[in-house]
Amino acid sequence: MDKLIVTNFKMNLSKEEVLEYKKIVENSDIKNLIISPSNIYLDLMSSNKYDLCAQNGYYEDFGTHTGEVSFKQLKSLGVKYSLIGHSETRNMSNEDIPLKLKACINNGIVPILCVGNDINEKDTSKLFCILDKELKILSGLKINDIIIAYEPTWAIGTGVTPSLENIKSVHTYIKNVLSKVYNIKCKVIYGGSVDMSNIKEICSIEEVDGVLIGSSSLNPNNLLKMYNKIK
Ligand code: PEP
Repeated sequence: MDKLIVTNFKMNLSKEEVLEYKKIVENSDIKNLIISPSNIYLDLMSSNKYDLCAQNGYYEDFGTHTGEVSFKQLKSLGVKYSLIGHSETRNMSNEDIPLKLKACINNGIVPILCVGNDINEKDTSKLFCILDKELKILSGLKINDIIIAYEPTWAIGTGVTPSLENIKSVHTYIKNVLSKVYNIKCKVIYGGSVDMSNIKEICSIEEVDGVLIGSSSLNPNNLLKMYNKIK
């Protein structure tokens, strides 16, 4: 199966840079790509070559929420996916994550739900407990289409990744819980310091359906080189 690449530009790149990015990607043979620019560039970045993903959204459709953008508005731009619960957007209570998931479902946006942990990879039982808790968000939701991103917070932007055995066992665990407890079959991708040096071995794990890439995706030529390593 072809692996999915999801980029996360975070709060980076200018208007000129995203237009140049789009041009380079459109002139390539890349497939299975989802691009998450800053929300202000989503319309500009629209393309047949890849799908668009919002980095976040607000759970109400309209209203007095200055500075926010709703999933309904994102949908009207042709946005297909949204990151939900990325560790850089989670508030202290995390109460809004189920509301955001519901709003995505109601507006036909596929959530890419980020789950992860702060604990050492060797504490596997604690890690699985945390994942159980995070995945509980899915109970009671009628979800047909979702992607789960396993993103250990300590691996994001640090240049450090979990061992391949850890990634494999967590992905297997998540897929098991999803199918047995929630009756959901979906892609589970890995995120956290994926780069040119490790993308091939991470994607060689059968249980890994793709990768979520932050800083290493900011340069379109790097992105294409990474794609070439896994295609
Ligand atoms: C992210 O923020 O989702 C991420 C994966 O970042 P990085 O690749 O920079 O670790």
